[in-house]
Amino acid sequence: MSIKLAPHHWPSRRQFAAGTLASLPFLSSTSLATDVRRTLLLTDPAFALHDPGRFCVERPSRMHAIDVALSGRAFDKLQRAAPNARDDAEQAILQVHAKAHFDRIKALAADTANLPYAIDGDTVLSRHSWGAVVGAVCAGLDAVDALFAGSGIKNAFCQVRPPGHHAEASRAMGFCFFSNVAIAARYARSKYGAERVAVVDFDVHHGNGTQEAFWSDGNSFYGSTHQMPLFPGTGAVSETGVGNIHNAPLRAGDGSSEFRAAMETRILPALDNFRPDIILLSAGFDAHEGDPVAQLRLSDADFA
Ligand SMILES: [Zn+2]
Repeated sequence: MSIKLAPHHWPSRRQFAAGTLASLPFLSSTSLATDVRRTLLLTDPAFALHDPGRFCVERPSRMHAIDVALSGRAFDKLQRAAPNARDDAEQAILQVHAKAHFDRIKALAADTANLPYAIDGDTVLSRHSWGAVVGAVCAGLDAVDALFAGSGIKNAFCQVRPPGHHAEASRAMGFCFFSNVAIAARYARSKYGAERVAVVDFDVHHGNGTQEAFWSDGNSFYGSTHQMPLFPGTGAVSETGVGNIHNAPLRAGDGSSEFRAAMETRILPALDNFRPDIILLSAGFDAHEGDPVAQLRLSDADFA
């Protein structure tokens, strides 16, 4: 998950302390030198302790792969921090999820005699899952705080797991327990008065949980490219919420040109028109041509 404030050419009705934007951190090495000092990387070894089983593709080695990638010299100047353990995490989660859902996941995670516990074939709680599940939420909240605190941070990258965009108000599914990005979006609104929050989701799967959370909320924008048909089955162009949902499904085999066309003709014009105060990216990289989980063929440059 990556979070940044909207650029200053999208004027907001409120002024925020850190209301301008540096470009995305993961561009060329030349731009990295100037950008990463204002980028906050939030991560913690605890995220690798969540263990859904050795046959699950959403596995701890995802964290190690990113650790290796970000250990290069180009990232020396990243500001790095572990997410705080936050007393307000439950309150933030309950802005998106039903109390019964929160209580169920917490109770299942604490029932050590019955761990690992499979909610479904993909979504498994293990002995150390609860710390990671809540930590992933806290990382998003910390990122929002950093952006609005006037600390000079212009964007943040939350290197977390488990992911969140499939978790619905009362349902864990697709590796996801709580909707990390929707929770961060709601928090930006309630804590800092952000009037318009946008989530752009380029994960190869559609973020049914984020879409559900935003469905009737015209001040929240959701734009997604994803392979379709594919899990979870949602994400048709006809799913528009109150005009705030913008789905741009792609077909198996699509690559750079189709992805860029979807972004440039559908998602980004709608995003520009929405004039968000903050942009959150559901930054799943499983649409990469090297990822066998699906059949989109995006390159590194497409993500940048
Ligand atoms: Zn995915």
